Amino acid sequence: LRGVVAVDGPSGTGKSTTARGLAMRLDARYLDTGAMYRAVTLAVLRSGLALDVAATDADGADDLVAVALGARVTVSTDPAEPRVQLDGEDVAAEIRGTAVTGAVSAVSALTAVRAHLVDEQRRIAAQAIEDGAGIVVEGRDIGTVVLPDAGLKVFLTASELVRAGRRTAEDSAAGRADAPDARTDLARRDKLDSSRAASPLRPADDAVEVDTSTLDIDGVLDRLQGLAGD
Ligand code: C5P
Repeated sequence: LRGVVAVDGPSGTGKSTTARGLAMRLDARYLDTGAMYRAVTLAVLRSGLALDVAATDADGADDLVAVALGARVTVSTDPAEPRVQLDGEDVAAEIRGTAVTGAVSAVSALTAVRAHLVDEQRRIAAQAIEDGAGIVVEGRDIGTVVLPDAGLKVFLTASELVRAGRRTAEDSAAGRADAPDARTDLARRDKLDSSRAASPLRPADDAVEVDTSTLDIDGVLDRLQGLAGD
């Protein structure tokens, strides 16, 4: 692959596994933009600032944005070893925990945070192209906002039941005893992600929608590899 593949969709649709697997198959780079929002959210949580100030108190939101923009988040784009660091510390496990998952939609609704991370995401994709590599980028707004010229845009969906089942299996494999009920939490995050003013979750007009409810990972990857023409 030489260009950009955008993979968007709500959580529990198999986005990360799919995007990473596709990057491996296509010998391309891989960027998990959700990990960037999660790492910035971890920085905000560690700062001890209250999250609900964003909606009510402009000064409080300024403090919060300052912490978010000051966080040094670095990601690797090797699909064999996707890493994410916050101020030099490996935070891959911590950003999947219950606290970050509970707070990330609020932090990613802040326009200034999005603008900052979108710039960084575009820079990483441009670097891949400049190096003659392709890149698979996954998120919520990749095809609509971050990289609207992507050669292939995929929007993954799955039934509510399947998504909740996948999330529950993930939580239990990671030993997250404190995880909230998967179905309720997915519905909460879907609502926040699709109703926010800044870059709400929605498929791009020219995205190919792929329902992963009844496909296994190889089935999804075969389909996407065919679409990528590789
Ligand atoms: O994909 P993941 O579940 O790790 O994303 C975590 C959260 O980050 C999403 O629920 C969403 O609020 C936010 N996000 C976003 N835009 C992206 C990627 C993630 O707003 N491109």
